[in-house]
Amino acid sequence: MNWNFLGQEALAFVFYFLYGSFFEWAFHRYLFHSPRFVKSTFRAHQLVHHQRYKYEPTSYEWQEGQEKDHVAMNWFALVLFLAFHAPLFWTVQALTGWQSMWGGLAAVTTYYAVYEYFHYCMHIPGNRWFENRWPFTFVKEHHRIHHKYMLKNLNVFFPLADVCLGTFVSASSLQKTRATVESSLKESHIAS
Ligand SMILES: [Zn+2]
Ligand SMILES: [Zn+2]
Repeated sequence: MNWNFLGQEALAFVFYFLYGSFFEWAFHRYLFHSPRFVKSTFRAHQLVHHQRYKYEPTSYEWQEGQEKDHVAMNWFALVLFLAFHAPLFWTVQALTGWQSMWGGLAAVTTYYAVYEYFHYCMHIPGNRWFENRWPFTFVKEHHRIHHKYMLKNLNVFFPLADVCLGTFVSASSLQKTRATVESSLKESHIAS
């Protein structure tokens, strides 16, 4: 067993998983919430997914009698993500000598699988063992806020890029903002 090889690939996995948060952020922002580059992803996400599932708990989650659809991306999305990243990871490896391509591809696959599965479970609950536990409850609420404020909370399950790029909105900060707005409205009402 070559531990040097495994160690480098493991480091690459961690590095590219962190990168995944930024890639997801940009992808979500510019391909899901803007028609500028690709119209079909914009349509499927902003015009269909966001209309079907909304902020209110009754519309955020699938309801009895509805089809369980319009949640996951097309099956070939993973193939496209891998095809897009493979030459990139290969180039980094060739230029730096860092044994990192397999770790990178494994990170993309894992990131994609967790994203798709968690996103599905957020919209289509099914009494799974983790559904009432942190951190799932946290990321589910994080994504629910995104369904109202579409340009906030662009990460689904790993909000590293949201925090770094200033698009992170927490449930408690939202409550505080609401309380401030309501009290200022009350004050202006009393004043008038
Ligand atoms: Zn969603
Ligand atoms: Zn979105």
